[in-house]
Amino acid sequence: MKFFILASGSRGNSLFVESHHGRFLIDVGLSARQIELRLHSKEIDPASIDAIILTHAHRDHVAGVGVFANRHKLPIYGHPETLDNISYLLKPHPKIKPWTGEFAIKDVRFTPFRVSHDCHPTHGYLVQENNSVLGVCTDLGVVTNEVKQHIRQAHALLLESNHDPNLLMNGPYPWHLKERVSGRLGHLSNHNAGELLKEIFSPHLGRVVLGHLSQENNTAALAYQTVLEYVGADKESIIDVVEQKNVSEMYYL
Ligand SMILES: [Zn+2]
Ligand SMILES: [Zn+2]
Repeated sequence: MKFFILASGSRGNSLFVESHHGRFLIDVGLSARQIELRLHSKEIDPASIDAIILTHAHRDHVAGVGVFANRHKLPIYGHPETLDNISYLLKPHPKIKPWTGEFAIKDVRFTPFRVSHDCHPTHGYLVQENNSVLGVCTDLGVVTNEVKQHIRQAHALLLESNHDPNLLMNGPYPWHLKERVSGRLGHLSNHNAGELLKEIFSPHLGRVVLGHLSQENNTAALAYQTVLEYVGADKESIIDVVEQKNVSEMYYL
């Protein structure tokens, strides 16, 4: 399995995953045009994508889903309420695939798990091909046991490291937004991400990409340094950070 991040952050999210027999996008939070450009940058034909899988209905995760799905005739998988919540974005014909739990597409098994966020419902996913598991875990305010139980299984993980609490509190956001971001239904701080990783780290976790960084209240260096303080400097080579403006490298697992 391999994956790369087309975009991560409050201005748009999308993750590409490829198995032996399938190609998938988790979230389509950029315009269809931007998604296509970023797929082309890795020499991936947008027409070769098999399905879209959604985490939740916030705009930064679904902005381009209607146009992109329609243009490439793609099925859209999501929790039934998530799909209801984005119906305004979809053309009449679309292939809507509500899931009710684990589901498989081609040779890949998707296991959703609930996360605490101010969009109901919001889910993370384990994406599994044979014995390789990728965890996708962004947009959550607190770490629950359900989250830990799932991401412990991951060999690679896209994990939210949204903000530095000091930058957030002293930054430009109005108070209600500061409360929202740092609250139980908001986003994980660098410290939250570090604590979580320290707790769940195991020898099979070989790659962590920190994502959904706030452009106002975080920097890549701060996220990286803070998380390393928790997990230890010996993990340096397996921690990476993806910034909103950049397409990530291709990761293999
Ligand atoms: Zn988001
Ligand atoms: Zn969100």
